[in-house]
Amino acid sequence: MADKENRYPINKEKRGGAWHLYRSEVLAALVIVVLVIGVAFLVNKFFYGFDLPELAFREPVVTDSYAGQGKKGKGFVQSEDWRLLLVNKNHPLEEEFDGELTELRYGQTVDSRIYPDLQDMFDEMREAGLDPRVVQGYRTGEEQQERLDNKIREYMGYGKTREEARQLAVQWEAEPGTCEHETGLCVDISSDSEDNESANAVWEWLDENCSRFGFIKRYPNNKSSVTGVKGEPWHYRYVGLEAAQEITERNITLEEYLGAAR
Ligand SMILES: [Zn+2]
Repeated sequence: MADKENRYPINKEKRGGAWHLYRSEVLAALVIVVLVIGVAFLVNKFFYGFDLPELAFREPVVTDSYAGQGKKGKGFVQSEDWRLLLVNKNHPLEEEFDGELTELRYGQTVDSRIYPDLQDMFDEMREAGLDPRVVQGYRTGEEQQERLDNKIREYMGYGKTREEARQLAVQWEAEPGTCEHETGLCVDISSDSEDNESANAVWEWLDENCSRFGFIKRYPNNKSSVTGVKGEPWHYRYVGLEAAQEITERNITLEEYLGAAR
């Protein structure tokens, strides 16, 4: 009888001890790990897999072919008109923005001089039943540097060398001084509800109407060889009424308008 009572613990020892004792706990832990990874994957897929505009924002996305090159350096003289300031890969800002900023709803800021027209445009969009939202306005050179550094780190995390990581990162994040957001003259616009349908409706309206308020769609899809930036339906740049209307009517870019394209 005593023998029989003792058999079970003895057998446990023989069958591998700890594993047998904790098998169910280990299996439960594995199931939890798999579940956590699965949920993380789905969450990631949800945010990045669909083209949610706010989260898909990364810019400028620099392409290999780049036109502003033709008038690089001495060949191009910036306009005296602040509204026509050209900033791109080959025309970096000469000094950091030091003007007055106006804070928008949700904390983004813009050059105060573009604020009245931006507000009028948003008022009209809201009257049309849309729910636009500025998701990115002014950005400092330092913030741009941080974005670039983060991107470099991200690639290094995938095993790239610093130089390889840098080359990949600059395809997604501009060098500080070359990102138009550092001028305070442009905004990334999405919708409050953040679904694709609402954002598309906002962008469609903007394509039709933004020039009436002095804005242009800065990086049209079919102009990336000129702007050096892949299409960005969300990015609108203030250039003033006259330039906006001409650029829109002639279906050209700011580079072409200013004679800075090849
Ligand atoms: Zn932008």
